[in-house]
Amino acid sequence: MWKSTLGVSLVAASLLGCVDTKLDGQPTAELLVFESVDPVDGSGTYALRPIALEHLSSIDELRDDVFDFVDRPVLHDTDVTDPGIAALVRHTPQYHPRVMNRDGVAIPRDTESLIALSSYHALRTIYDHGADLSGLPLTELTPDQGFPVLFHVSIENNAVTNRLSANAFYAWPGSFFGIVDIDGVENIPVSSALPVLAHEFGHHLFLKGFLDPAGPDSKLGEAFPIRGLNEGYADFNAFAMTGVTNVLADSLPSFSDDRGIDPDRTHYLPFTYDTITLCHGEFYCIGTLFARSLYGAFRADGGNPEDFAQRTAYARDVFGSFAAIPGQLAPDDPLLLSTFLYDFVAAMPQARRPALCDHLTRNFGARFSSVSASVCR
Ligand SMILES: [Zn+2]
Repeated sequence: MWKSTLGVSLVAASLLGCVDTKLDGQPTAELLVFESVDPVDGSGTYALRPIALEHLSSIDELRDDVFDFVDRPVLHDTDVTDPGIAALVRHTPQYHPRVMNRDGVAIPRDTESLIALSSYHALRTIYDHGADLSGLPLTELTPDQGFPVLFHVSIENNAVTNRLSANAFYAWPGSFFGIVDIDGVENIPVSSALPVLAHEFGHHLFLKGFLDPAGPDSKLGEAFPIRGLNEGYADFNAFAMTGVTNVLADSLPSFSDDRGIDPDRTHYLPFTYDTITLCHGEFYCIGTLFARSLYGAFRADGGNPEDFAQRTAYARDVFGSFAAIPGQLAPDDPLLLSTFLYDFVAAMPQARRPALCDHLTRNFGARFSSVSASVCR
């Protein structure tokens, strides 16, 4: 009936329709949802599905008791502290997804809203499994102010504002997440993928498990090998959460070869610490070697990669060992990597050590084997 009227009327009707049929109460929204592990490349597969967002009281704002999405903040270096982020979030408007109501389900009206809602759901899902992944209760994993999520954030540096694309990040000491713009190079949006956000949440766990125990004045988090190990632990956390063994192969396949941790999958570049110049991701290479060591040891101990309980049990042992490591580690020690690996194995349960020693030696060569004698006997 409306099709016979003027186009202008038709547009006005559809806008009114959206406003008239308000979504009340706990919302359900159609999201991009992680489905399963692709058997060929070990990345994720995804589908659009309606999901009940039980922690949201309204679809109008992506804000619950833990996460708080704000819209296009401009981040300065000085904001990255806890008070800086709190002030930035206070002065930045909430993010409002644009949705239409179809039979009580909120359907994103544009790609950006689809990404925002999907990112929120993925972050909340991972957070709800935080105790499974770490062994720490959620109360200890949650910052006092919750987690700000800077949606489509820009970064200003000396009067130059950079728009970031095709990424997501976690930053400390402010303990916040950044969701950045999409880019045509992405097959699926990186910043809404559950494995990618589980990787970012892994950085938060590394902060709680390793960097916080190192003390407030520690520079360990900035040391090159520690940054690499942080990335590797984050990739292993993505595996523990999802079973995915390559966090990038679904979205950015051409950048993913040095992130694969399962040698039986495609997009896997074989390298060791001694051939690390082959790697294009700098310290990410150290991370991949660490993640491959953990994954290889998990499999060698009989771990089933499809079993969430087994994966997370291993992840809890890894996390549980971190607090014992910092000790006397010095950020500028040339043997920092070796010392970390030694202390890490020493803090792992005895039954896990043989397979771990084997796989750390395969990946790190003399960097590990030179110090491993007493802990791998
Ligand atoms: Zn990372």
